[in-house]
Amino acid sequence: MISFNFQRAYPNNTPHPENGLWFALNDKGMLVIHHETETILPHGQTPLPHLPRTDQTLFLGYLGDVPCFACHIANDLELPSTTRLLGLRDLYGRVPEAQHAVAGYASQLLLWQRNSNYCSTCGQALTQILGEWGKRCHNCKRDVYPPVSPCTITLIHDGDRVLLTHKAGWGNRYGLVAGFVEPGESLEDCLRREVQEEVGATVSDITYFSSQPWPYPHQLMLGFFARYTGGELKLDLNELDEARWTTRAEISKGIVGIPPKLSIARQLIDHWMAK
Ligand SMILES: [Zn+2]
Repeated sequence: MISFNFQRAYPNNTPHPENGLWFALNDKGMLVIHHETETILPHGQTPLPHLPRTDQTLFLGYLGDVPCFACHIANDLELPSTTRLLGLRDLYGRVPEAQHAVAGYASQLLLWQRNSNYCSTCGQALTQILGEWGKRCHNCKRDVYPPVSPCTITLIHDGDRVLLTHKAGWGNRYGLVAGFVEPGESLEDCLRREVQEEVGATVSDITYFSSQPWPYPHQLMLGFFARYTGGELKLDLNELDEARWTTRAEISKGIVGIPPKLSIARQLIDHWMAK
């Protein structure tokens, strides 16, 4: 949804990080500097003054004119008291939205770097392809690329009602029908199948809303509206424990909780509410 001035870069075209913005990640989260009232991402030549720069540093590109770098940091690294490790979801709203989006990209590329050292067919070491993030197995003559998994997410409406779904453990927070696109499926096929499987409904008037990278770990969410046309609600109990028709009034009064602003689910609901 958001658009910002980010110019992507690819290996092996790395500038010296004179005044870089750092996306430094370990298993606990992303390194931020925490002042009393604000949270900022590290900037400078390295994410932390005593941290040596490693060969594993990835140059992501320029946000405006600021070079952005990503690197893994050790899980047992001793951190100064002015720093924190925040998960990507917790980072949202604490740093500018553009930086949060680059943080998601950084997280996906770092995961890719970690998980793509060897060919999954023959076990030979993969080598970086210059000019892209892909890697090559010279034994199999096979190239592999960072994964992106498309998912549809659908707001099903019926007049003044919207169909919200609920999973075990969500408390009073409800969401929308969503699922991964299967091989051989169009987005519309996927949407109709997911709606049928999860809640037993049929839909028509499918309209595209927008998309959102969802780096948990590497989905691309494609948001749609669809009109309910029939079907007794019948839940896939492996996925959901409830689905309910909800009115605008119930949502605006807070009777039914909706997803956080970070998500495209929330953007779909907000858009529908404003209609
Ligand atoms: Zn191979």
